Amino acid sequence: MEHHIKNMDKGELHVHLNGLVSTHLVIDLLQQQGAEIPDGFDLEKDLTRLTPSPDLQTYLKPWQVLRLIPQGRTALNLMVFSAFENLARQNVKFVELRSSVIYLALLNNITVPEALLWLTEEIDRASSKYGIRGGLILTVSRGDYAAEHLRTLLAAYVAIGKPGKIVGLDLACNEDTVSPTELPQLYRKAKADFGLKVTIHAGETGNPDNIMEAITEFDADRIGHGTAAFKSKKSWN
Ligand SMILES: [Zn+2]
Repeated sequence: MEHHIKNMDKGELHVHLNGLVSTHLVIDLLQQQGAEIPDGFDLEKDLTRLTPSPDLQTYLKPWQVLRLIPQGRTALNLMVFSAFENLARQNVKFVELRSSVIYLALLNNITVPEALLWLTEEIDRASSKYGIRGGLILTVSRGDYAAEHLRTLLAAYVAIGKPGKIVGLDLACNEDTVSPTELPQLYRKAKADFGLKVTIHAGETGNPDNIMEAITEFDADRIGHGTAAFKSKKSWN
């Protein structure tokens, strides 16, 4: 049965680039670039999650170091190819990868349009090598800078000629973090102006109201996780 499922053609609609890279490559890249590993982080144990975590923060511990890579175009190339190799192993034929391009730009001291070009070009290369159709979803992190980051990403998207490979906008990170009140309207406007689809991480852990907000305020086309929906007492009528 497991073998049969593995061999089925699949589409992967929710996967974060850094989370898809093989652990050994993550460790190699961190070591090569001399990254400062946070106190208490064990590279042998804390990069993978093989059992249920007590809370989202624990589950997301790998991101304490995943956010430190890639430094350099070669490292990005290796990461994207590792991600696609792992997708190919599962017989995935279509993927919409999520990535925080703002972090890629900051880590590499390059502009956001440059970072976006780096990423789309590497996805193109990996797509042809592995025969997997690849799209990119631009992830914005919740918080004070969310609106500014969204504006910056959209400006970069326009600056590099609105490639069809960029298919959507995402909002991620701790759902209890407060973001600027104008944020939902900016997502709706981007959708209207550019035809980009909207996906929001909502109801990933506790609060079903975030799912409702994603649909009614952000006009989300796709909910990330939404597992808290079963707690909702609200009805659509
Ligand atoms: Zn996610």
